[in-house]
Amino acid sequence: MGTKGLSLVKMNVDELIKLLNKALADEWLAYYQYWVGAKVVQGTMKNSAVEELNEHAADELRHADMLVERITQLGGTPILDPKDWYDLTNCTYEAPTDPAVLKVLEQNVRGEQCAIEVYSKLAEMTKDKDEITHQIVLEILKDEVEHEDDLQALVEDIQAM
Ligand code: FE
Ligand code: FE
Ligand code: MG
Repeated sequence: MGTKGLSLVKMNVDELIKLLNKALADEWLAYYQYWVGAKVVQGTMKNSAVEELNEHAADELRHADMLVERITQLGGTPILDPKDWYDLTNCTYEAPTDPAVLKVLEQNVRGEQCAIEVYSKLAEMTKDKDEITHQIVLEILKDEVEHEDDLQALVEDIQAM
């Protein structure tokens, strides 16, 4: 990043890059969990679930893109090897080994709840310290809150049938 732009960052840049890379690992694992979940999910209201899972997968990939753009602006290197995803992730990965729709949705709800925690911590940490990263983090946080809400609404609809 330009030197003037970088001078706006009032926190440890290396530490910030490390945290953004950890979030990047979460996004890729979340992307895959949604993407592969949409392929295998079975049961009541399967089509609604597939649609929601695919939408969220696309959002997670977009989040990965936003994080990488900021990481490189800050002079960092994004995770280059997928092997590092498991070491760096905050939220881990839950393989959808049981394809029952409620099981898959509940795994993803847990993922979103973890993501909400991660991004609210990042938002707190960057507030008044790095306004650009702060805005990016808030934008992602807003999506994760919506994701959790959508999934829980779908779970309730299915349970009510
Ligand atoms: Fe995300
Ligand atoms: Fe999400
Ligand atoms: Mg949605």
